Amino acid sequence: KEFSEISLKDIYQLASSSFPLCMRHLFDKLRENHHLKHGGRMQLGLFLKAVGLKLEDALAFWKSEFSQKVGAERFDKEYSYSIRHNYGKEGKRTDYTPYACHKIISSTPSVGDHHGCPYRHFRSCRLVDLFNQKFDVLYFLVYIYYNSAMHTIHCESIRATQKSIVHMLQIFCFSIIVVCNCRSLFNSEENLRAALGKMGVGGRSLDDILDKVRSRHYQVACTLTFEAVHAASCDSGINHPNQYFEASQKILQT
Ligand code: SF4
Repeated sequence: KEFSEISLKDIYQLASSSFPLCMRHLFDKLRENHHLKHGGRMQLGLFLKAVGLKLEDALAFWKSEFSQKVGAERFDKEYSYSIRHNYGKEGKRTDYTPYACHKIISSTPSVGDHHGCPYRHFRSCRLVDLFNQKFDVLYFLVYIYYNSAMHTIHCESIRATQKSIVHMLQIFCFSIIVVCNCRSLFNSEENLRAALGKMGVGGRSLDDILDKVRSRHYQVACTLTFEAVHAASCDSGINHPNQYFEASQKILQT
């Protein structure tokens, strides 16, 4: 899937002109926080490798960001290995390929992760995401404690007190989970609108994209974004972030 070689100095301009939303989001978060968790480093790192960023430039790029947060020494010790690993220079020396849309869309980013597909994960409220909230752990710990306590405590009054405390804790945890997820559901479409607005997408095109997202046609939404940004059709549809990049460069270079 390699397109051509790109240099470190071009990467910032290419990110705003030719990266699909998933990679723009990771790129922006990396520059904002000077850090990405493992899933984000893999998704963006392999994408950058396939667009033609050489290993030396990749190391310089990641180091320039991470060293602002963790320091250059810690970057060299803890993070540079995995970048060389992605390029097949460490471990089994496998030449890893970048992730396709279906893999990115079916990933399950946790709270604090920035990888995944924004069309799906910016507005996700699936059960699996519910379980990523911190309070689900407490909820189930309370549930397990309750079951074991009810089997071991024989005094009726202690049992009744335990029961009401546990029920109150469960209601508290459940309320927090519901509130967090409702908030993420309502905020998520706003986040997606804002992200698409930054790409210059608005008006009718934006409404059409959000319609596709609501009906869970994430790759179609991405294709419509490509068409709106480039004012050109994309008959094959988007099925890979690097395909998005290559198609974009073809249009911009003609
Ligand atoms: Fe990235 Fe594919 Fe999602 Fe587009 S549809 S944002 S290329 S994962």
